[in-house]
Amino acid sequence: MKKYDVLVIGGGLVGCASAYHLAKRGASVLLAEKNDINSMASGQNAGSLHFQLEHRLMEQGDALTEKFSRIIPLNRLAAEQWANLEEELGESVDVIMKGGFMVAMTNDEVTLLKKKYALEHNYGMDTQLLTAAEARQIAPYLSKKIKAAAYFPQEGHANPRLVTPAYARAAIKKGVRVQSHCEVFQLNKTAHTWRASLKIDHTNHREDIEVDMILNAAGAWAGHCALLAGIHLPVSPQALTMSVTESAPAFMPHLVQRAGAKLSMKQVSAGNILIGGGWPSLFKLKQGRPDLAQRPVIIKENVVQNLLLAAELAPAVEQLHLLRCWTGIVGVIDDQLPLLGEVPSFPGYYVATGGSGFTLAPAYAKLISELMITGRTDHDISLYNPGRFGHLNRSVKAV
Ligand SMILES: Cc1cc2nc3c(=O)[nH]c(=O)nc-3n(C[C@H](O)[C@H](O)[C@H](O)COP(=O)(O)OP(=O)(O)OC[C@H]3O[C@@H](n4cnc5c(N)ncnc54)[C@H](O)[C@@H]3O)c2cc1C
Repeated sequence: MKKYDVLVIGGGLVGCASAYHLAKRGASVLLAEKNDINSMASGQNAGSLHFQLEHRLMEQGDALTEKFSRIIPLNRLAAEQWANLEEELGESVDVIMKGGFMVAMTNDEVTLLKKKYALEHNYGMDTQLLTAAEARQIAPYLSKKIKAAAYFPQEGHANPRLVTPAYARAAIKKGVRVQSHCEVFQLNKTAHTWRASLKIDHTNHREDIEVDMILNAAGAWAGHCALLAGIHLPVSPQALTMSVTESAPAFMPHLVQRAGAKLSMKQVSAGNILIGGGWPSLFKLKQGRPDLAQRPVIIKENVVQNLLLAAELAPAVEQLHLLRCWTGIVGVIDDQLPLLGEVPSFPGYYVATGGSGFTLAPAYAKLISELMITGRTDHDISLYNPGRFGHLNRSVKAV
C-alpha cells in the first residue's frame, strides 16, 4: 500500500492551493479529484476578490454583523496573498486589484456603510468612505443616483478559469501527485494513520493508500466527505447564478458591489461585464434530494432582478447584450463562517471550506498547511475551528 503524508480531497482552488503549500513545506501529497481539476465552484464563480464585509454578512442584524467582522484579519491576509500570487506561481492568472466599491443607493444603505466602515477600521482595514461626488470622480460609470460608497483600494478580481490550474501545476512541480477522475469513497482510521480507498476513472479500478493526515477540501461536498470518516459537518450546498454581457471598451476598472442588495460586477480583461452577487438558482432533484452531480437550473426572474440592479448602478451596462448565464454550486456553513482546522477527536482529519472561498482560498491554504505541518499558525484561526460543531460528533474508533 502506498503511503503519503497527506491526502487532499478535492481539486478545486482550496485543494490545489493547499496541496501546493503542503508540498512547499516538504509533505508528500496525493490530491484526489473525482471530476476534472477546477470543474466545480472554483471554475464557475464570479472571480471577485472582495475584502470589505459583504452584503450577506451585514443583513442579519448588528450583533451578527459585529461577530462576522472578526473575519476581517483573514480578509487582509488573503489580500496580501493575492497581491503576490502571480509572482509566487510564476504565471499570470489575470489578478487585477485596482480597487473595489461598495455602493449605497438608499439612506439605509448609507447607514450600513457607516457601520461597516467603523467595524473595518477597528481591525485596521483602511476602507475609505466617499460621498457620491467623490466616488463618481474615481468611477464616472456609477449612476448619478448613488448616495455614497465605501472604497477599498486592494479589491479586484482574478480569472477563475486560470487560478486553480496554475496552483495545480505549481503543486505538481513541487512533487504532488494530482489525480483527477479519482473519487475518495472510503476512509478508515487506524491506530496512527488513515486508510483511504480511491476509485479511479469511474471504473472498478480501486487503489488503497495510507496517509498520516487528511485534508477535506471538497467544497459543497465537504459534508458528504466528512461522513466517510464518521464526522458530521454542517455544510449546505447552495446553487447560485452568474451572467456575462458581450464585450465592451474598457470603462469599469473596479470591482463594484451594492451595500444592501445582491450585486457584484466587474469588467474582465476581454471587456465582458460579469454580473453576480449570490442570486439563487434551483437544484435538480434525484430521489427527492438535490442532485449535486447536475448543474442547477437558472431562475429567470432572479437573473432579471440581478441585471436590473446592475443597470441601475452602472447605466452603461443596460446597453450591453446578455451573452450567457450559468449556475454553480457552493458549500455554505450553517453559521456562515469558514471551517478551517483539525476536527477535534479525529486526529489527523482537517477541513478547509466555506466562506468566500475564491477570495479566501490562498489564505486558507497557507494557514491550513502551516497548522498541519507545524501544529500551529501565526494567525489566530480559533474562530473557524471545526470544534464549534463538536456537539454533532462522536469519537472515531481505530480499526
Ligand atoms: C456562481 C458562484 C459565484 C461565486 N462567486 C464568488 C466570488 O466572486 N468570490 C468568492 O470569493 N467566492 C465566490 N464563490 C464561492 C467560491 O467559488 C467557492 O467558495 C470556492 O470556489 C470553493 O472552492 P473549493 O475548492 O472549496 O470547492 P470546489 O471548487 O467546489 O472544489 C471541490 C472539489 O471536490 C471534489 N470532490 C467532492 N467529493 C469528492 C470525493 N469524494 N473525492 C474526490 N473529489 C471530490 C469536487 O468534484 C470538486 O471539484 C462563488 C460560487 C459560485 C457557485
